[in-house]
Amino acid sequence: IIKVFSLVGFILLLLFYLTANWIGRRITKPIVLLQRGAKIIEKGKLTHKVGTKSKDEIGVLSRAFDNMTKKLRVLYLGLEKKVRERTKDLEKFKLAVQNASDLVVITDPKGKILYINKAGEKITGFVAAELLGKKAWSKESWGMMNEKFYKKLWKTLTINKKTFSSKSVKNKTKNNKEYDAEIKISPILDKKKVLFFVGIERDITKEREIDRAKSDFVSLASHQLSTPLSTVKWYAEFLNKKARRKLNEKEKKYLDELYKSNERMLALIDDFLNVSKIEMGTFYMKPKPTDINKVMRNTLKEFLPQIAKKKLKIKKTFYKKSISLNIDPKLLSMVFSNLLSNAVKYSNKEGKIEIETERQGSKALISIADSGCGIPKDEQSKIFTRLFRAQNVYKQYPAGTGLGLYIAKNIVDKLGGKIWFESDEGKGATFFVELLIKNKK
Ligand code: ADP
Repeated sequence: IIKVFSLVGFILLLLFYLTANWIGRRITKPIVLLQRGAKIIEKGKLTHKVGTKSKDEIGVLSRAFDNMTKKLRVLYLGLEKKVRERTKDLEKFKLAVQNASDLVVITDPKGKILYINKAGEKITGFVAAELLGKKAWSKESWGMMNEKFYKKLWKTLTINKKTFSSKSVKNKTKNNKEYDAEIKISPILDKKKVLFFVGIERDITKEREIDRAKSDFVSLASHQLSTPLSTVKWYAEFLNKKARRKLNEKEKKYLDELYKSNERMLALIDDFLNVSKIEMGTFYMKPKPTDINKVMRNTLKEFLPQIAKKKLKIKKTFYKKSISLNIDPKLLSMVFSNLLSNAVKYSNKEGKIEIETERQGSKALISIADSGCGIPKDEQSKIFTRLFRAQNVYKQYPAGTGLGLYIAKNIVDKLGGKIWFESDEGKGATFFVELLIKNKK
């Protein structure tokens, strides 16, 4: 009986063990599969499937897991495609910058070079590796401007956080060869923080040489032309004095025409000479104590015949006392002359011109207002540029070069002052000049 009981007991125990083991396996297998699957997916193999078919909670979890992996795979493939496209775009930009004909440089917020393109290497003569970490446009790289220039550059970029541009920069190559450049540097901002700077530079040495040659030619031609024209002037004046009474009306008219045309040519040549002086930088000043009112009065005298002919009314409101400035009187007269000549030229008959001189603290303010044709709003920004004439004057006033205001602006700039205007088309224009009384120049 003991033996039978032992055997039955043993068999029952074995059966119990096997059943428990079988049930245990059934429960744990999907968990093990799930765990293994998670590890495989973690390694990046998104095609793996846990694939448990059981209907219990573990089975549901496995299938959710497989679904999630599937979605992840689709997302991942989409992302990969996007990254490939973006990388292609970036490559395009990189190629474009690398092969651009102008120097392109990227610096950190301290101005130290992070990148420079091929044109940069060609223009400066350095290889990129020699420049990385050095300050762009400084003396340690290819710059050779003075302290004042760098202060202004740095202030514009870091304090004002604006683009700095200059058309008259002198640089030097690695071999100490000087060249003229035009530069533009912009801060790249994240909100208000500077992330880096991007600079572009163009070598304009050749353009400058052509400009210089052109100015030389204009200067030479003007000098050569002014001699015979002065002779014509002299003879016309002589004939007018000595022989006018012997001429008939028609001949007198011809003589007057000859004189006037010659005067126009002389004025034009004068303008050409002044422009070439401005552009060659040979406009020299001889400052001396000068009274603004006196210069204005004398300049105005030159226009009295035209004023009388057009029957213009002149209203003068001069500052009671003299306004004395240390300034070149000839240059100042040239500015007034250009403004007065325009006011007279662009006024209608019987129009009104108001001339005012005033002292405001350490500044002198001069204004010349006319009631003439005025300047169209859309052209006002170009009025001080060389050779520019507004559309509304072409037909009615064909005589004009578009050089007068360009010359006037350059002179006023040189004198350290300001020139501007206000105008309504058809109603007239007022030009203002502001000069510092304590002029250092
Ligand atoms: P110019 O008078 O010889 O054409 P300026 O340089 O003196 O050349 O003037 C440039 C242009 O500015 C003129 O052609 C004209 O269109 C405009 N302008 C200047 N002054 C006046 C003014 N007082 N009234 C109207 N337009 C003016």
